[in-house]
Amino acid sequence: MPEPRPAASISPPTQCQGSGTDYEAHFRGALERLHGERRYRVFADIERIAGRFPIAHWRRPDGATSEITVWCSNDYLGMGQHPEVVAALTETARRCGVGAGGTRNIAGNTSPLVDLERELADLHGKEAGLVFTSGYVSNQAGISTIAKLIPDCLILSDALNHNSMIEGVRHSGCEKRVFRHNDLAHLEELLIAAAGRNALIVFESVYSMDGDVAPVGAICALAERYGAMTYLDEVHAVGLYGRRGGGIAERDGVMHRVDVIEGTLAKGFGCVGGYITASAALCDAVRSFAPAFIFTTALPPAIAAAARASVRYLKRSSAERDAHQRQAARTKAALEAAGLPVLPTDTHIVPVMVGDAELCKAAADHLLERHAIYIQPINYPTVPRGTERLRITPSPFHDEARIAALTAALVETWDTLDLPRAGAVFAQAAE
Ligand code: PLP
Repeated sequence: MPEPRPAASISPPTQCQGSGTDYEAHFRGALERLHGERRYRVFADIERIAGRFPIAHWRRPDGATSEITVWCSNDYLGMGQHPEVVAALTETARRCGVGAGGTRNIAGNTSPLVDLERELADLHGKEAGLVFTSGYVSNQAGISTIAKLIPDCLILSDALNHNSMIEGVRHSGCEKRVFRHNDLAHLEELLIAAAGRNALIVFESVYSMDGDVAPVGAICALAERYGAMTYLDEVHAVGLYGRRGGGIAERDGVMHRVDVIEGTLAKGFGCVGGYITASAALCDAVRSFAPAFIFTTALPPAIAAAARASVRYLKRSSAERDAHQRQAARTKAALEAAGLPVLPTDTHIVPVMVGDAELCKAAADHLLERHAIYIQPINYPTVPRGTERLRITPSPFHDEARIAALTAALVETWDTLDLPRAGAVFAQAAE
């Protein structure tokens, strides 16, 4: 029998193979264009420390590690480290193992996933829930499948909808009209023009980059008047708003008027996965027709159990929601008092405007290296060019000392890089 060749003697290909064509040049070229536009992204190498939220280890490019404070996590309440959530995950993994064993079509449902869907349906006061592998997939699959199943459906989509919703609209193949962001008059105009046609209004509750909130009840009222259906993304609101964490629609008392409520298990609930909740027939139809549901492995049972523990916990406890709002308000007040250009928001999101991609990255690098504070820069295409920013997300665990340290670090960074203060930024915007 021939000796197996030692792995070290197999040299990996350094170029894509293909009849002498330099395919690699296309990839290098694409990356160079990104560098040229100053929007090549670098991700910090971070390891969160369970029980010490928002502290994490940062591994520098040279391999050395140091402790940092994270100020940009979307695990808004730190539920990813909550003892009940971690216990549900570890106990279920010990009992059921790690993977789900396949797609639900092939391997069936796992009981924790069925329980999670019931929990989510109850959270939003709907007949049924359907869980996907992420919030992105739930939007992409949910919107496209729902719209495809409605004859001659016209989709009315808010101008600032998330990429996952835009992809859902695109994949539906249906005609669409985009209404100006949160503009009820424009939406009504489009509904009048669509008279007699089936229409689906897709929108978010909390818009995550500007931190503003949709008039959910008023949009539902228009939908009712003109016979349209509503699909609401509550990704940045579930767990965080409403008496039981059902989101803005629950807070505003209009959950029953929204046809489809979509959410994530990855942000307020601190785990991973996404879902829709709606009528039993709608969820069953999406389950039966959405390729992104049918042809991918289900969420693992341990994750489903952890997510359910998080949802259940936040249904009964408002302490985290209250502390979250309080610390976000205190952070905004401290940064505003220091003259930093904080975009005013009604929510937990604290955008500090920079207005230039390179400076935004320089500010983030400086904060990390000099102050051990991690805030990922937000550049185009996540936000329009010229509105680059640091997006700060205070949690219940960002206490007064951390807020003071953040404020001092930002002021020092603004001084060092000569970044525009609030007066200059907002005066320019008003011109
Ligand atoms: N919807 C909105 C509005 C989002 O901002 C995001 C992600 O940030 C998603 C959906 C996707 O959710 P997930 O991260 O669970 O894929």
